[in-house]
Amino acid sequence: MKAVLYESFGAPPRLTQVPDPTPEPHGVVIKVMATGVCRSDWHGWVGHDPDIQLPHVPGHEFSGVVEAVGKQVQKWKVGDRVTVPFVAACGHCPECHAGHQQVCDHQFQPGFTHWGSFAEYVAIHQADINLVALPETLDFATAASLGCRFATSFRAVVDQGKTSAGQWVAVHGCGGVGLSAIMIANAVGANVVAIDIADDKLSMARALGAVATVNATQVADVAQAVREITRGGAHVSLDALGHPTTCFNSISNLRKRGKHVQVGLMLGDHTTPAVPMSRMIAHELEILGSHGMQAHRYGAMLAMMESGKLSPEKLVGEKISLAQSIDALMNMDRFAVAGATVVTEF
Ligand SMILES: [Zn+2]
Ligand SMILES: [Zn+2]
Repeated sequence: MKAVLYESFGAPPRLTQVPDPTPEPHGVVIKVMATGVCRSDWHGWVGHDPDIQLPHVPGHEFSGVVEAVGKQVQKWKVGDRVTVPFVAACGHCPECHAGHQQVCDHQFQPGFTHWGSFAEYVAIHQADINLVALPETLDFATAASLGCRFATSFRAVVDQGKTSAGQWVAVHGCGGVGLSAIMIANAVGANVVAIDIADDKLSMARALGAVATVNATQVADVAQAVREITRGGAHVSLDALGHPTTCFNSISNLRKRGKHVQVGLMLGDHTTPAVPMSRMIAHELEILGSHGMQAHRYGAMLAMMESGKLSPEKLVGEKISLAQSIDALMNMDRFAVAGATVVTEF
């Protein structure tokens, strides 16, 4: 099959031929119909992810059609239209038994721990607990855009933040994660304040439901600005970028007993950011993470999409070929693209 492969970190990947994957007894092979290009792929390519072993095929946000099925798989057959959360689970550890597959002790992450979906086919383990059936009405490009940013944001806003109608939600960073979170928080009835440094992203945030915006370059104190807009602070606040400054601001703009959800990854030099811990104690703040979303929670998100409350297709940007994914991956750190870039031609 064709695949995008790199043999050393930071060196240009190449489009090449590799052997077709075969399914594990408990797994499937999926013919990839669409795969998103994500900043996490860029982090992996430059060498920030210790799980990656070389040579490597990136890609973790994908949708496709089941091509081959292992003997032990009970729920899936050839031809099923599916996607997979970016954290696939083992099914046997205590976290999996408790329903928390997104923090499985033995995670299988296509594109990180194993070869991913920048290829014609991808092999997925433990198919019965990791595959998600796609509604017939959902196109592959939109489905591919769910697995990482959108699902993680859904979990951050709904399951971790427990956002409810009428609450104020602050979203720091209006890239793919942030815009997803704004759409989801708006859909559950919250009032959203969007924060970014770029006016075009803030106008996109307004178009997706934000009721107020803060350009961080134009106020002296971002947290103060959010506390004023929300008359006392946000009930739930997300760092959707993954940066020490946005993390600090997100915690600092909470009202008492508010929840900060860290969604943006902290990698490289940013793994241990400063946290206003004294404020956290005095105001009884909560700090939560959001690490993907379990396959069994996709139903709630898909139902909101089918009913028209969520429209992730609005966040899909350019559609490109597998050959073009190499440039897209290498340029991922430049923040230039609007919407998720998705490979739809293999
Ligand atoms: Zn597990
Ligand atoms: Zn991703």
